[in-house]
Parts: sequence; structure tokens; C-alpha cells
Amino acid sequence: MEKKNIDWGNLGFGYVQTDYRYVSNFKNGAWDDGEITTDANIVLNECAGVLQYAQTAFEGMKAYTTEDGHIVVFRPDLNASRMADSARRLEMPVFPEEKFIEAVTEVVKANEAWVPPYGSGATLYLRPYMFGSNPVIGVKPADEYQFRILCTPVGPYFKGGVKPLTLKVSDFDRAAPCGTGNIKAGLNYAMSLHAIVTAHHEGYDENMYLDSKTRTKVEETGGANFLFVTKDGKVVTPKSDTILPSITRRSLLVVAKEYLGLEVEEREVYIDEVKDFAECGLCGTAAVISPVGKIVNHGEEICFPSGMTEMGPVTKKLYDTLTGIQMGRIEAPEGWIHVIK
Ligand SMILES: *Cc1c(COP(=O)(O)O)cnc(C)c1O
Repeated sequence: MEKKNIDWGNLGFGYVQTDYRYVSNFKNGAWDDGEITTDANIVLNECAGVLQYAQTAFEGMKAYTTEDGHIVVFRPDLNASRMADSARRLEMPVFPEEKFIEAVTEVVKANEAWVPPYGSGATLYLRPYMFGSNPVIGVKPADEYQFRILCTPVGPYFKGGVKPLTLKVSDFDRAAPCGTGNIKAGLNYAMSLHAIVTAHHEGYDENMYLDSKTRTKVEETGGANFLFVTKDGKVVTPKSDTILPSITRRSLLVVAKEYLGLEVEEREVYIDEVKDFAECGLCGTAAVISPVGKIVNHGEEICFPSGMTEMGPVTKKLYDTLTGIQMGRIEAPEGWIHVIK
């Protein structure tokens, strides 16, 4: 298999059109067989449900080459079940979880030439998504849906080395109590755009959102969960019904406990105690962990002892262990690595 002639190490995080994508349509109450297609464009009626009422959800995952040359995907079963949760919450038909994994497998196989080589730091980012496709003008769920998986090669997240982030405690809310914060819906991102553009204007990398009801507890950023390390080496992550259950964060908790023998705690984390932590990181598929160096809470600066130049020592160990598991350098727990070929 001839790989595409791409400078893998210098790719950014942008859309690069690949050769194939997966498409399946839901009509008359059933999903069709689904297929791989070369057509990157979607033609929709002007009144399609997704365009009027934002009935759409997505997933994000990566395919990559391991040290011994296999192409793999990390825990796609969890993406499949999370997407099913998102669909149910948005009154969309569930794309069967088994079929989701088959579709991922098919689309990665078809785009094998686009899967970056081991050691390049680049990966093939996969974006499964679905949306209401037939005309809807009265407010109700669509009757027809399309499920797709597109893929695009993305570069190493920490190009030119890790740089700890500076966060702002946001004055905006991300998710309402009993709202949609716990599903991967495009609507959560649409309404976060103003907050992130504002934060960037003010010189911050990301927003830290607090719980909307009391504004006292840490939730997450626009697209990553928090992970903290206490001064005595305990790993703590916020527990909340309104944060998105990050697969990276859930995996890191297993790594902390089972591989590093650390104590882990999933509990409510108050903004007032954040200053007492030794390390802070953001977890998500894209970067695995991005270290946080500083959080500004309305003029009060919280500076973590790990500083503004590198990852804290526990964060680094977690990062190295999970990426080692993903890349096949460290033995993975049963079922974590889905081998495509
Ligand atoms: C996707 C996402 C994450 C990260 O989840 P992973 O499964 O680790 O990629 C965190 N927060 C939000 C809001 C997200 O949409």
C-alpha cells in the first residue's frame, strides 16, 4: 500500500479531503446497508431538520499505526455507545453499535493510504456524525437521517513541544442542569463559539466552565474534561451529570489506578479548591492530555507548581502510559485496541 505523499510531521489540525467516506441513510423506519463513497458533498433540501433545528450529533476518534505496523482504533465501542446515547437524547434513531464499529473499520481500510506512519505523531482523525435530513418546519424530530464517517489526517498535537495552557473561568455557561451537556451534540459547540472567541480575544487558550446552577463546581472546557493531581499524588476528576463523558478521561483513570498504582477520585471539584492542586490537565482524543499552567478566576491567578514550560510529573506519566498503550509499546487492557489490519 502506497502512502499518500504528505509531510505527516507538519500537518496541522485542519480538514484535508480524503478519498473515501462511509454513508448510511435512515428512511421508512430503517437504516439501509450503508456503503463507502467517494462523494464528499451532501445535497440537502433547504428545510432539512439539521439546518433548521440543529438535530445532529457527532463523535471524534483516531486511527493510527502502531509500533509493529498495525492500523488500529482506540476503544471504538465506547464511541458507538456514546453516539447511541446522543441519538436517543436528540430523538434520532440509534445507529446500531455493531454496525458503527464495522463502518469505522470499512472507512479506515478504504483510506489506508491516508493513515499516517508510526512515529510521525500524526493520526487519521475520524468523524462519525448523523443528522436529520428530510424537510422539517414544525418543531419535531426528522423522519429521515444520514449517518456518515469522514476522515482527515491531522498532525501531531504538540508540534514543537508541549506548551501548558492558560485558562479563564468563563462567565458563560456551557450546559444547563438536565440539558444536553452530557451528549456530543453540535448545538453545545455552536453556543460555545462566542465564549471561546471572547476568551481568545482576551489572550486565553480555553474556558473553564463552572456548573450553571451554583457556579461553584468545575465542569469542563468547551471540548475536554479536567484531570487534577493533588500534592500527594492522587488523581481527581470532576463528577457531574452535565459534562461529556470523555473516553480519554475514563481511560486515564484506569491507567492511573491499574498501571501507575495511583489513588483516583471521581467527585465534585469546587473552584475554591483548585488552587490546592499540584497539576492540571485537559483530556480528549485530540491531545490525550494538554497540561494547564494557569487558570484566571476573575482577576485571581491560580498558577500550578508544574509551571508554564512542561507537563507536571504525574500528568507526564499518565500521558506516556496511555500513548504507550495506544501505540502498542505497552500491553493494553483487554478490548481497548481494535485492530483494523
Ligand atoms: C469530545 C469531547 C470531550 C473529549 O472526549 P474524548 O472521548 O476523550 O475525546 C470532552 N468534552 C467535550 C465537551 C467533548 O465534546
